[in-house]
Amino acid sequence: MRLFVTGGAGFIGSNYVRWVLAHTDDDVVVYDALTYAGNRDNLRDLEDDPRMAFIQGDVCDRDGVAEAMAGCDAVVHFAAESHVDRSIVGPDAFVRTNCDGTNVVCDTARLLEMGMVVQVSTDEVYGSIDEGSFAETNRLEPRSPYSASKAGADLIALAYRETFGLPVAVTRSSNNFGPYQHPEKLIPLFTTNLLDGLTVPLYGDGLNVRDWCHVDDNCAAIDLVLRQGQHGEIYNVAGGNELTNRELTRRLLALCGRDESFIHYVDDRLGHDRRYSVDAAKISKLGWSPSRDLEEALAVTVDWYRENRWWWEPLKKAAT
Ligand code: NAD
Repeated sequence: MRLFVTGGAGFIGSNYVRWVLAHTDDDVVVYDALTYAGNRDNLRDLEDDPRMAFIQGDVCDRDGVAEAMAGCDAVVHFAAESHVDRSIVGPDAFVRTNCDGTNVVCDTARLLEMGMVVQVSTDEVYGSIDEGSFAETNRLEPRSPYSASKAGADLIALAYRETFGLPVAVTRSSNNFGPYQHPEKLIPLFTTNLLDGLTVPLYGDGLNVRDWCHVDDNCAAIDLVLRQGQHGEIYNVAGGNELTNRELTRRLLALCGRDESFIHYVDDRLGHDRRYSVDAAKISKLGWSPSRDLEEALAVTVDWYRENRWWWEPLKKAAT
């Protein structure tokens, strides 16, 4: 099979490309605009693999998408604006890429008769929940421009299934972590700050709760949905590791050999959702379960950032 992977130069996308090349015989066409979040260095170790091709392009460009997707069999759609904080100061790019881009990807997939389109989404589309966990049937109550644009993208993709019979499935995972995550996101930001002897900015009271899923586990889930998911269905993906941001920070402090004086509390994010939690029972019936122990996976991740300054130092410099 030849896979068309949008956003394959981003964090999860590049890990997914690596996962596919290691675990399957499939070929991959990466299609990525290389925004500030996309980085050819994320794929550097795969550059010489003849099974991977890279095409720079925007998912909103119909002709570009059509030309690049031609000859492929299935689509895994990661490309998105993905940072909640950026969506608060500049929502337009989020609606454009996440909604318009998903429409172009689905419409092109329909015209080219792709065998499957996996829309990669997020637990954030359900909004915040105080107790219990959201099932796939729960209503969508996104509360940031990011999560609203992802909810819109999910509905657009699912509408292509209903209206045109396009084979579509949606995955909604909790927060991912692992190698090649842009240092604007919590775990790489805090880790790289601590490695450099800098403090870490913790929002509000630090008691917001997130579930953490290692990126390899999410890649396995996405790939399973690609190959065995039911058309028109949604699959939640959860690591089973709910932590307050404060507790997560404490663990990162310990792994980096720093104490709590390295935390500085900052004003809370606008509209900051208190807790995300999704129930992954449905995908577990397909045979998926998270395989990574959080403590060990966090330690390995911190070590990766410790050993790969070449990768993140230029990104942090570019951000200042
Ligand atoms: P990322 O920001 O690291 O990567 C996004 C990629 O998309 C980048 O390579 C970027 O260049 C590319 N891109 C952006 N706009 C584009 C456009 N207009 N055309 C083509 N390419 C474009 O994001 P990520 O963390 O890897 O997330 C990937 C997907 O997974 C997103 O759809 C996100 O909503 C979803 N998701 C992420 C998480 C997480 O914890 N990171 C959790 C759940 C779901």
